[in-house]
Amino acid sequence: MQASTQIADGPVTAQASQWAVEDGRAAESFDVLIVGAGLSGIGAACHLQRECPSKTFAILEARQVMGGTWDLFRYPGVRSDSDMYTLGYRFRPWQQPRAIVDGPSILKYIRETAREYGIDRKVRFGYGVTHASWSSALGRWSVDATAPDGTTVHFTTKFLFMCSGYYDYDEGHMPGWPGMDRFHGRIVHPQQWPEDLDYEGKRIVVIGSGATAVTLAPALAESAAHVTMLQRSPTYIVARPSKDKIANWLRPWIGARLAYSFARWKNVLFGIYFYNLARRKPQETKQGILRLAQKELPPGYDVSTHLSPRYNPWDQRLCLIPDADLFSAIRLGKVSIVTDDIETFTEKGLRLKSGEELEADILVTATGLKLKLLGGMQVCVDGVPANIARTLSYKGLMYSDIPNLASTFGYINASWTLKADLIAEYVCRLLNYMDEQGYDICAPRRRDSSIVEEPALNFTSGYIKRASNILPKQGSRKPWRLRQNYALDLLDLRFGKIDDGTLEFSSLEKPAHAV
Ligand SMILES: Cc1cc2nc3c(=O)[nH]c(=O)nc-3n(C[C@H](O)[C@H](O)[C@H](O)COP(=O)(O)OP(=O)(O)OC[C@H]3O[C@@H](n4cnc5c(N)ncnc54)[C@H](O)[C@@H]3O)c2cc1C
Repeated sequence: MQASTQIADGPVTAQASQWAVEDGRAAESFDVLIVGAGLSGIGAACHLQRECPSKTFAILEARQVMGGTWDLFRYPGVRSDSDMYTLGYRFRPWQQPRAIVDGPSILKYIRETAREYGIDRKVRFGYGVTHASWSSALGRWSVDATAPDGTTVHFTTKFLFMCSGYYDYDEGHMPGWPGMDRFHGRIVHPQQWPEDLDYEGKRIVVIGSGATAVTLAPALAESAAHVTMLQRSPTYIVARPSKDKIANWLRPWIGARLAYSFARWKNVLFGIYFYNLARRKPQETKQGILRLAQKELPPGYDVSTHLSPRYNPWDQRLCLIPDADLFSAIRLGKVSIVTDDIETFTEKGLRLKSGEELEADILVTATGLKLKLLGGMQVCVDGVPANIARTLSYKGLMYSDIPNLASTFGYINASWTLKADLIAEYVCRLLNYMDEQGYDICAPRRRDSSIVEEPALNFTSGYIKRASNILPKQGSRKPWRLRQNYALDLLDLRFGKIDDGTLEFSSLEKPAHAV
């Protein structure tokens, strides 16, 4: 089976990774290699171990610890804004009374899951994958990783399962502002929160309006003199209880597993209902969100300036605040929101376009993430460098014309793990199907020329717009369509036909399976 050159990024100028077996280098071999030991990678490994017990596998993790996001981010108050009934794994019930929890609790859950399933022993820490090169003749990937001692180590695998997250671990997004070097205080990015930062009694300005800013502001305000959340434009902010009373009440009666399942479905269905409502009736939903916020804020608070975005609900991700913590801090006068543009940094803080000056001891740039796909790994298919941005996403987990590779990308309108779990289940079904049928190779093929290409994510958020040149496309119809809907994906990924006419199968002995 020859890979089409549609994925090629211009002429072949660089051989991303030479084929290890052909040039005689020693390479350790696995049936499946998982890249990344975060929430997705640990979950994927648990699925693989349970559903494909005969497969050999390992996890390559660039960092020295597992947990990914939930270990990297250390800023005060770091937490999920999804509930743990949907951010937790389907196979391992969340049993704590709080449903919206801090980062360390999520990290503990990931680590405990890995220990319970023996996955911690499968992780090679400190191995950053740099290149993967597919050989159709051998039906294998050759994978290069930088080992902890800086040397390049080679692996081969029949199937590559990327669970490397979606953003750059080295640095966050940092727009440049005039005069930044003039500021005499400290400038901090939440992705690199300094352990020694003493903010007690300090005046802090948090620049940003996304999930990180709304998390940080009330947490910092607990000991800071005052926190100002400076936003160019507002975001929808919705308060939600941090505890799920129904799940907590049910647990002693029906047991942890059933209560978990019930709460998970309750939250999934509510999420789907709310998302569709917001799409169908944006004005009513917007007014509803603003009314709820107004109730929690001091009388006369200028909701229309500070909390009423220019876009419709769910054109970008909503920000959830547990127990209305941000609104309480505003009520108590510890946090204020300013909606304005920065003209320049000054020695003492910021001058805004309106002419207002904000004095600060610390400036926190909660300006978001830099998206990075496949952990920055370069991909070659039969010697041709692949450009993911020129592929179509197949079911949101494989890429057109890239064989034996799946990657995890969660929902943008629901918990990441809902999709991560489904993707891992599907990969296990796919591997088992290929074993039963005697196939070695599978690749999604785009045969229908009437499929129209669209951006993979129709969100207007800055970080998605900034990444439009690296993201794959989606197609106008199944199986190339990304639906951002757990119930529909569940039917398709858990029960749908594997051999759907788009996925092409072949074995090393037999020619490609014509469908
Ligand atoms: C502050 C913050 C809050 C969030 N809150 C929520 C939330 O409430 N709900 C929600 O659904 N989502 C949330 N997300 C999204 C979140 O990232 C996902 O929920 C989830 O943690 C992603 O898990 P992951 O394992 O796919 O990726 P990550 O957590 O990013 O883990 C990826 C792992 O892969 C490793 N890796 C990357 N590249 C390579 C490479 N080349 N070689 C080897 N290893 C590599 C990394 O070191 C890392 O350990 C949040 C994200 C952030 C940043």
